[in-house]
Amino acid sequence: LEPDYSFLIRVRVPGGVVNAKQWLQIDQISDEYANGTIKLTTKQAFQFHGVLKGDLKPSIQSINKALLDTIAACGDVNRNVMASPHPYASEVFDQVQELAGKVSDHLTPRTPAYYEIWLDQKKVAAGSAGEVEPLYGPVYLPRKFKIGFTTPPFNDTDIFTQDLGFIAIENNGVLEGFNIAVGGGMGTTFGDAETYPRLGNVLGFISVENTVDVAEKVVLLQKELGNRKVRKNARLKYTIDRIGVDAFKELLNEKLGYSLEPERSYALVRNGDKFGWQKAKDGLWYLGLFIEGGRVKDVDQVKIKSALQEIASLNISDFRLTGNQNLILGKIEEENKAKINQILKKHHLLPQAISGIRANSIACVALNTCSLAFAEAERYLPSLIDKIEEGLQEFGLFKDEIVIRMTGCANGCGRPYVAEIAFIGKAPGRYNFYLGGDFKGTRLNNLYRENVDEQEILKDLRPILKDYSENRTKGEEFGDFVIRKQYVAEIVNPKDFKH
Ligand code: SF4
Repeated sequence: LEPDYSFLIRVRVPGGVVNAKQWLQIDQISDEYANGTIKLTTKQAFQFHGVLKGDLKPSIQSINKALLDTIAACGDVNRNVMASPHPYASEVFDQVQELAGKVSDHLTPRTPAYYEIWLDQKKVAAGSAGEVEPLYGPVYLPRKFKIGFTTPPFNDTDIFTQDLGFIAIENNGVLEGFNIAVGGGMGTTFGDAETYPRLGNVLGFISVENTVDVAEKVVLLQKELGNRKVRKNARLKYTIDRIGVDAFKELLNEKLGYSLEPERSYALVRNGDKFGWQKAKDGLWYLGLFIEGGRVKDVDQVKIKSALQEIASLNISDFRLTGNQNLILGKIEEENKAKINQILKKHHLLPQAISGIRANSIACVALNTCSLAFAEAERYLPSLIDKIEEGLQEFGLFKDEIVIRMTGCANGCGRPYVAEIAFIGKAPGRYNFYLGGDFKGTRLNNLYRENVDEQEILKDLRPILKDYSENRTKGEEFGDFVIRKQYVAEIVNPKDFKH
């Protein structure tokens, strides 16, 4: 007899788009093997929680039958490749998605062990000495590696928080290539000043044809140069700070055998999602749905899971996971809009009259699912927002969009260090309180108060919101305001970050 171990399973979805049939299969797996809910993650992946040890193999087999997999969803390899699933403002969206898929395929480990262990494809023992990963070789990377693509003006993949970010450069509906940014990363460790969040540096521009090659060469450079002795300093961001941005760029050019071109201009406007119906340039309709905490489940009358299952069974849309844990129903013909509206209304999902702050909220899973968590996030943030909203109503800010994020520890899975307001769990009920990221995800925030509880959070935040409502300049975002009014100083050197 052994304890009733339960597991979390992460399902990779490069670019975050699945078809209706796959959604139905994911829905079924969540009922059959997990806790009956689906978590949409900030990496555009699915998570199943509460999978019992004995159900691991059949659930992973079911995931593979849905033409999805769990390979490299964890581990010291390239993880799920993100790509903005918002097609509204761009004609190159599909092309960028396709490239994200190619990069993902190219960097996926080739080990047969996964298939042997989980999919019953013959031997499970160690392979012959000749079985070597073609790209990774005999050892994987020093640490996990994250890649994202974004198509401006959206930055919902938080491109500067990725180890390697591709920023699409479009000219009159033609994808010219990408600016690449390297060395972003969120994870820190409380009390360890050698760890800090960092935003990626834009190194230059590459053409479309070189996308996979550049991804490979950046990964290989990190494989060769990354710190394998101190795991907490193993991410690419520390490698780049150790050798210098210019030196890294020179080494990359050398490895590529050609030089990156100068960075091209682009403009990002937001890292949150757009909700409601939007018609894209492909002539089809897209419906952005807010999914609080990324948790797809039926609660009382609000039956998100049932509604999405019903919509999927009609096979009239695809399903797009955003980097903000939300969902877009995509590629919908005009005549099918009414059917979807009807289902969503029946299950009390439309209209979604939520505040601007809730619409821009992210919470990692934290307690009681994540073993690294010190505090609540997903289960607590909604009720904290309820209380913050009272002040927002009073100051006429209910509809103003403000990016707020909460995580249960400093690892930063919810990308909290670029939020305008962030809470990082230190202990049950206590958080470090950060302010000053910007609305488009291009600035780190800074510590405002340390180790505060709910009462202190509300007491400290209220006068700032009041000040913002009375003294902001026209169009000034909340994060820019708190920096201008010096509630916190802007972090110029990430090493000055305070834990
Ligand atoms: Fe767990 Fe920490 Fe990541 Fe939240 S940020 S999911 S608590 S490791």
